[in-house]
Amino acid sequence: MLHRCPHCDQACMSSLQKLFVSPASSISCKSCGKGVSIRWRYFIWLLLPVVLVLVGINLLQPGPLSILLIGVPLAFAVSLIQLFFVPLSRSGRNRDTGRNTAGDDN
Ligand SMILES: [Zn+2]
Repeated sequence: MLHRCPHCDQACMSSLQKLFVSPASSISCKSCGKGVSIRWRYFIWLLLPVVLVLVGINLLQPGPLSILLIGVPLAFAVSLIQLFFVPLSRSGRNRDTGRNTAGDDN
């Protein structure tokens, strides 16, 4: 699966890398070297169901098997959403200088 760079529109990272990219950690594009990440607003929407489930688990106090049965499909679903639906954005971090050069588009 191709993940296109918001800077140069070329393939910029593998699917595995996209699973681990967050607003706090950008990845340098393979083609142009500019920083690519995801925006906070998407990240927060991605984390929201995880937080709700964690709160629910804490309230219900199910056994280890129930936690596994809830946690594994949830992690899988969140990974798929990040992979297919969360768009990549410019992080503004330049590989050469390490400085934030873009405007705040979060
Ligand atoms: Zn690029």
